[in-house]
Amino acid sequence: MERPNPRLYEGYCDETPVHRLRERFGTTNVYGRNSRSILSPASGYIKAYDFTLNPYRGCQYGCSYCYAAAFSPNTRMRRDWGNWVIVKENAAELLRKELERWNKRHPERPPRIYMSTVTDPYQAIETREKLTQRLLEVMIEYCPVLVIQTRSPMVTRDIPLFQRLKKLRVNMSVPTGSETVRRDFEPQSPSLKARLHAIHKIAGAIDPDKGYVPKLSVTITPTLPTKPEDIDWFVERLRGIDRVVLQRFHDASARSLVAATREEAIALKEKYRWWYADEGTQYENFKAILKQRLPETEVLENQEGFGYD
Ligand code: SF4
Repeated sequence: MERPNPRLYEGYCDETPVHRLRERFGTTNVYGRNSRSILSPASGYIKAYDFTLNPYRGCQYGCSYCYAAAFSPNTRMRRDWGNWVIVKENAAELLRKELERWNKRHPERPPRIYMSTVTDPYQAIETREKLTQRLLEVMIEYCPVLVIQTRSPMVTRDIPLFQRLKKLRVNMSVPTGSETVRRDFEPQSPSLKARLHAIHKIAGAIDPDKGYVPKLSVTITPTLPTKPEDIDWFVERLRGIDRVVLQRFHDASARSLVAATREEAIALKEKYRWWYADEGTQYENFKAILKQRLPETEVLENQEGFGYD
């Protein structure tokens, strides 16, 4: 497992860095390093998978509710979540080795991989690094069962690779149907319109005669408030998607894939008292609307929604 040395992260430690790796990409501090392994055993909320795969550490989107901030290399980096990212430079080479090893041990069973749980594989740095793209190219050779979890429209760049993967589900994160709510909770992330356009673009680009047909989900997780006036628009944009997934913001059975409570997100809940004062009822009403108006779409909740099948 990767054991980051905080001394490497110039700007986030007081000691002299071992290597001067820091550079800027947009407003983000970017670091590069080699990892010891790239596939991590999956557990908890996604225990149905064999591995999680995170090409980057840290995430430029810096969502206010992100539980992954807790795994930052040091407290300063945790506080500055969203403003740094570590590129796992040898990820593709490691993946090839690790899949080769799996293949030898389990020739009859392809691994089940969830990409990603603590970063976004299509955050802005991916335009330059193309690390996720290289990982997909390796995976085409080994045919794992793969779930891609992202909130980035950049995922459409890799459409040409998708039908070459034998078993793929793309989960697009869209936690609210209200752009103003999105701007409050995740101001550095892409617009809702762009994300929903991207998942429909993938659906439209798939040709059943040309290979495997990927499954497509919209994960409304954590389920943030959607203003009443935005519900019609949101529901219409979900039409045609195989599955939508819901999950309350603070789930009593919280496990590793559930949004943790960061101070920024708690403060924002005050602004949306009309929803959070009775979150349970608001959530159930929203779920009922989706079930009633999207009869062709699977509406799942919590852990069940994150499964591949
Ligand atoms: S995109 Fe995902 S990993 Fe990145 S900050 Fe948001 S919730 Fe966390």
